[in-house]
Amino acid sequence: MKVEIDKKSGFCFGVVYAIEKAEQELKKGNPVYCLGDIVHNEAEVERLRQLGLQTIDHEQLAQMRDCKVLIRAHGEPPSTYQTALANNIQLMDASCPVVLKLQNDVRKGFEEAKKIQGQVVIYGKHGHAEVTGLVGQTDGEAIVISSVEDLDKIDFTKPINLFSQTTKSLRGYAKMTEEIERRMQEAQGTDAKIQIITNDTICRQVSHREPGLQKFAAQHDVIVFVSGKKSSNGKSLHQVCESVNPRSYLVADVDEVLSEWFADGNVNTVGVCGATSTPMWLMEKVRDHIEQLAQEYSPAMA
Ligand code: SF4
Repeated sequence: MKVEIDKKSGFCFGVVYAIEKAEQELKKGNPVYCLGDIVHNEAEVERLRQLGLQTIDHEQLAQMRDCKVLIRAHGEPPSTYQTALANNIQLMDASCPVVLKLQNDVRKGFEEAKKIQGQVVIYGKHGHAEVTGLVGQTDGEAIVISSVEDLDKIDFTKPINLFSQTTKSLRGYAKMTEEIERRMQEAQGTDAKIQIITNDTICRQVSHREPGLQKFAAQHDVIVFVSGKKSSNGKSLHQVCESVNPRSYLVADVDEVLSEWFADGNVNTVGVCGATSTPMWLMEKVRDHIEQLAQEYSPAMA
């Protein structure tokens, strides 16, 4: 049985940058605090914890003074920068440039929307750190929608400036845009003058992976997708695999891999892939484990 890792899977440049920044600081022997999990992958967080990286939350940040704190790729709302300034905390800002640009665009979009009694709407996951950072650019006024049910929060008789969290799927964004436009027309009738501005702000580091991943998933009998439980990007890319290969399994680590997935005698190739938050070392560990399982289960399979 052949087990192959998708070479295009794994960390995006935003995550690589944040982890490198943390590792550089850890090498100096200083205590390093990170506001929230540095990456949505429990195994990588644990690896860095063992090197000395300490994860803190916003309540802890408010109690801290005179230290250095790392901001991860998801970015932060303005209130975090204000707390740091007030508490003499030096921020090591590893916010991804793509997220920083989006924050800037949301801020400008909010200023424009205010002039015409419009609304800023963000298609994203409630409570996700990046979304919190974006809502913070609008003094907390942006409307977050994660599903069609959330659309009832929008006033369709008023202008809308729509943005997306960087890791949402293009398909989901297109579906949401279509439904908003339909409801605007319904609310305003055929003479509709009130407009929607749509900003497709999905990160291409994520969306560009979809076609390649579909191809990879279709080429293998079984897919093992490795991703942390908190990763939105992981869930959405796993669904991409599932859409072309129903035998696509999502695992966080080797202990979740089941030998029965490979045991029906029809499995010749297994593909291992992951999210933008999945480290290569973890995919390699999963690959080695599957090879080992195959040998133990049936030497003929290996
Ligand atoms: S997925 Fe895109 S926006 Fe998010 S951290 Fe990676 S590069 Fe940045």
